[in-house]
Amino acid sequence: MPDFKLHPEYKHLKNQRKLLSYIAAFLVKGAIPHAFLFTGIKGVGKQSAAQLFSMVCNCAEVASQVSIIRKSSYQAAFREEITGPCGQCRSCRKILKGIHPDVILTIPTGSFIKIGQIRTLCRKLALKPYESKFRFAILSEADSMNPEAGNALLKMLEEPPDRTILILTAEQASDLLPTVVSRCLHIRLNPIPEKDLAVLLKEAHGMDNGEATAIARISGGSFSKAVSLHKQDWINRRDRLIREFESLSSKPTGMAISLAEKLSGKKELLPDCLDIFMTWLRDLLVYRYSPGIIIYRDLKDKIQREHGKLNAETLIARIEAVQEALKRIESNANVRLTLEIMILQMTGT
Ligand SMILES: [Zn+2]
Repeated sequence: MPDFKLHPEYKHLKNQRKLLSYIAAFLVKGAIPHAFLFTGIKGVGKQSAAQLFSMVCNCAEVASQVSIIRKSSYQAAFREEITGPCGQCRSCRKILKGIHPDVILTIPTGSFIKIGQIRTLCRKLALKPYESKFRFAILSEADSMNPEAGNALLKMLEEPPDRTILILTAEQASDLLPTVVSRCLHIRLNPIPEKDLAVLLKEAHGMDNGEATAIARISGGSFSKAVSLHKQDWINRRDRLIREFESLSSKPTGMAISLAEKLSGKKELLPDCLDIFMTWLRDLLVYRYSPGIIIYRDLKDKIQREHGKLNAETLIARIEAVQEALKRIESNANVRLTLEIMILQMTGT
C-alpha cells in the first residue's frame, strides 16, 4: 500500500500508523466511510488528524498522484509513494489557515456542544459542498455533546449528507452514545512514544535536549500538553521550585511558612507544583537503587550530588506527606493550612 509523507505541521502524527494506513487505503480505493470516531488522550492530535485527513483528501497534488497509482499495476502501486499533502495548493493553504469553507469545525462553547450548534451544522450540511471533492465536518470533543445534541447528530449519521465525511473526536468511545459510536469507524490514536515526543519538541520548538527529555517524560504522550508546558516555562518553574524545596530544611520556620503562602496563591498550578516535589523526592529515592529510572534525567548530576543527604525513611516520609497534601487539597481541605503542615513535615519541625 502506498505511503504518504507528512506536512511539517502534522509531524506529531507520524507514529499513528493505523490512521495513516487507513487514509492511504481509502484514498487509493476512492471509497471513504462517511463517519469516523478518533479517540485518544487529550492533546495526542485527534483534531489535527481530522484536519490532515481533510487536507489529504482534497489536495490537488495528492489527487494527481492517486490517479497515477490507480492506473498502474498492483505491484507498481505497492511501490508508489504519495508525496502529499503538498501544503501549497489552494485547498491545502486554505485548510492550513483554517478558512476552507468545506472543512467545518465544531467545538464546545463553554463546557458543551449544544443542540443549537448541531442544528446549525445540519443546516450547513444540507447544502452542497462549496468547492471541494470531500467536505469534512469535524466535531471536536464530541463527548461534550449533551443527549439532545447527540440525538440530533444521530439523525445526520443515519442520513449522511452528500460527499461529506464526519469526524468525531473524543477521549474515549464509552463517553459517547453507543448508537453514535456504532455508526462510526473507530480509530484509536496512541500516545506519542516518549523518545519520539522529545525529538519532535527539539525539532519543532527548538528545545534543548534536557528540556525536551524532561517535558516528554511528564507529558504522557500528549503533544499539546508538552507544548503548553514549554510555553509556560515549566522547566524554569520546576528548577526554581526544587531549589526552594531543597533549601527548606536550612530555613527558619517563618520562611518555610511563607513558601506555603506563596504556593497557596497559585491554586491552578498547585497540583503540578506538588507533582514536581513528589517526582524530585522519588528520583532521590530511586537513584540509589536504579539510577536508570529517574524521571528528571536532565537533573542527573544534581540528583547524584543530593541523593545521599537524606536517608530512605526520611524520603519516603516526605513523599507520603506530599501525597497526603495532594489528597487533602483534592477533597477541598483548607489549602494554606494543608501546605503549612506539609512544609513543616519537610523541615523536620
Ligand atoms: Zn495540496
